[in-house]
Amino acid sequence: MSRLVLATRNAHKITELRKILGNTGIDVEIVGVDAFPDVPDVPETGLTFAANALLKAHAVARATGLPAIADDSGLCVDALNGMPGIFSARWAGRHGDDTANLELLLAQLSDIAPEHRAAHFTCAAALALPDGTERVVEGRLTGTLTNTPRGTGGFGYDPILQIDGDTRTAAELTAEEKNAISHRGEAFRTLAPAVAELVTGRS
Ligand code: IMP
Repeated sequence: MSRLVLATRNAHKITELRKILGNTGIDVEIVGVDAFPDVPDVPETGLTFAANALLKAHAVARATGLPAIADDSGLCVDALNGMPGIFSARWAGRHGDDTANLELLLAQLSDIAPEHRAAHFTCAAALALPDGTERVVEGRLTGTLTNTPRGTGGFGYDPILQIDGDTRTAAELTAEEKNAISHRGEAFRTLAPAVAELVTGRS
C-alpha cells in the first residue's frame, strides 16, 4: 500500500484525513510527521495559506522521501480586509492563545453592525511529492461573527462564527457535523482525486 505523510502533530487532523480518503476508496496509509523524529519544524514564512501549506508539504516530502500533505488555515474577516488570516493563531501576540485571540478580535469589531460581520474560515491543503510535483486546493466555511462566544466544542474562533444557514456557532456543532461542512474537510475532499492520481496511480 502507498504511504503518505500528513505534516501535522495533530491527531484529529490525521483521523479526519484518514476518514475522508477512506470514504473515497483511496487505498493509502496515512502517517503523521511524528513518525519521523528527524523532520524539523517548518517555519510558516509564506504570505498566503496556500504558500504556507506548500512550504510544509515540500519540506516534509523532501525530508521523508514520501508524498506529503500539509494544511494551513485561519479566520478571514471581511471588515478587516481578510485578517487575522495567516496570523490567526497569533493575532493577540502569543502563538496558540485561543482565548486572547478571540477576545482581541471581538474588541476590534465591537462597533461593527451585524450586517457587516461576515467572515469565513479558509483552509489550504497541499500535496507534494519528493520529485517536486505539487497540488494545492482550498476549502471555506462561511458565517457571521457573533458579539459573544457561544458553545463549548471545537477550538480557536469556533465559538464566534455563526454558520451561514444555521443558528449555531461552529462550537455548537458536533465534531461530525463540523467535519462534514468545515473548510478543512472541504479542502481534504477536494485534494483526494490528486492523491488517487499522483500517489496511488489511480486516475
Ligand atoms: P492551523 O492551520 O491548524 O495552524 O490553524 C491556524 C489558526 O487558525 C488556529 O490557531 C485557529 O486560531 C484558526 N483556525 C483554523 N481552523 C479553525 C477552525 O476550524 N476553528 C476555529 N479556528 C480555526
